Amino acid sequence: MTTLAEARALDAADGLAPLRARFVRPERLIYLDGNSLGMLPAASVAASADMVARQWGERLIRSWNEGWIEAPARIGALVAPLIGAAADEVIVCDSTSVNLFKAIVAGLREAGRRDPKRTVVVSEAGNFHTDLHIAAGAVGCVPGAELRIVPREGLAEALGDDTALLLLTHVHYKSGARFDMAEWTARAQTAGALMLWDLSHSAGAVAVDLNRAGADLAVGCGYKYLNGGPGAPAFLYVAKRWQGGLGNPLSGWMGHAAPFDFTDDYAPADGMTRWLTGTPPMLALDGLESGLALWRGIDMPAVEAKSAALFDILLAAGRRAGLDCVTPLDPAARGSHISFRHAEAYGVVQALIARDIVGDFRAPDVARFGLTPLTLSHEEVWQAGEALAEVVAEREWDRPEYRMRSAVT
Ligand SMILES: *Cc1c(COP(=O)(O)O)cnc(C)c1O
Repeated sequence: MTTLAEARALDAADGLAPLRARFVRPERLIYLDGNSLGMLPAASVAASADMVARQWGERLIRSWNEGWIEAPARIGALVAPLIGAAADEVIVCDSTSVNLFKAIVAGLREAGRRDPKRTVVVSEAGNFHTDLHIAAGAVGCVPGAELRIVPREGLAEALGDDTALLLLTHVHYKSGARFDMAEWTARAQTAGALMLWDLSHSAGAVAVDLNRAGADLAVGCGYKYLNGGPGAPAFLYVAKRWQGGLGNPLSGWMGHAAPFDFTDDYAPADGMTRWLTGTPPMLALDGLESGLALWRGIDMPAVEAKSAALFDILLAAGRRAGLDCVTPLDPAARGSHISFRHAEAYGVVQALIARDIVGDFRAPDVARFGLTPLTLSHEEVWQAGEALAEVVAEREWDRPEYRMRSAVT
């Protein structure tokens, strides 16, 4: 168990602590939801004012030639070091859902071209639901394709000579459990399938090395650990070896080799540009660029070490409260959040929010707390742990106002 003095000592020795001042910090708020919507970087405020007032307001359409048109590739290159990719293997565009669609259809078509028997997308039961919904929609767009959703224990066995693509979320959104990326990539590829990773809860949370694992495709979220702002564009990774062969099923003019030739025929651009579809959302991209600026030069092992220390503080408090931790205790087997099971988890989270301690609830019975090392201090997490223990011990969750479900949990 950590004491307040120990938490303060950890803060005093924390090399990441100065980064906290680079975020807008609402008074008294202890924010444990940076895994869902990252905090606002202070520099984003001025950057977006410049984007709106000068780049849009004054420069208007000239801005496309003053840095806008390169933005998806330029910002993709900022994501690359965080996921173990080369700068020209990542582009930012669309949402994670849309990028999943593009990657799944492209992967299915490629697998089918090489071997018409390969028609199946395998994914995990209980994966983040949009991944499964998008996969269901994507197989519906490819004749003969099907989606097979299997429990984690059955995944290895589900891979076979009909598998086109294995789609896994690297860090599970609810439990926080992390797949071994190299091991599962090798499994998929040994079975003859392509490997598509969803890194939504991994990028900026744990050290990721797509190239070392030999992954084929990956997508991930810009508004969680990367602090890109609500609905920030997502990222898409296509390994260099696939860039010439795979095609974007949402073939739009921004992915064309010469969009301003206005030709009737579609000719894909080289490299990652072909994965663009429509006009880049510049206001949103600007927020993502500001968020990623904070990640420049950050040492991921230091981030992981701080995450583990924050985890231990909250774990001890949760145990004191008698809560069941559903997140793996081995740091290498999890991401950067901690989840507890409680029959009244919704009320527990609401009672904490009433104390300005913001986590979230994941149905049916999980209270989830994001441990974002760039924005949190050990002392804040210690305070959150004390409050959690009190809320549970004093049954503070058992109030009618904490049972009213909002649309977003
Ligand atoms: C957050 C998250 C998404 C989000 O998808 P959007 O298209 O941005 O809504 C997708 N997949 C996983 C695993 C996530 O955690």
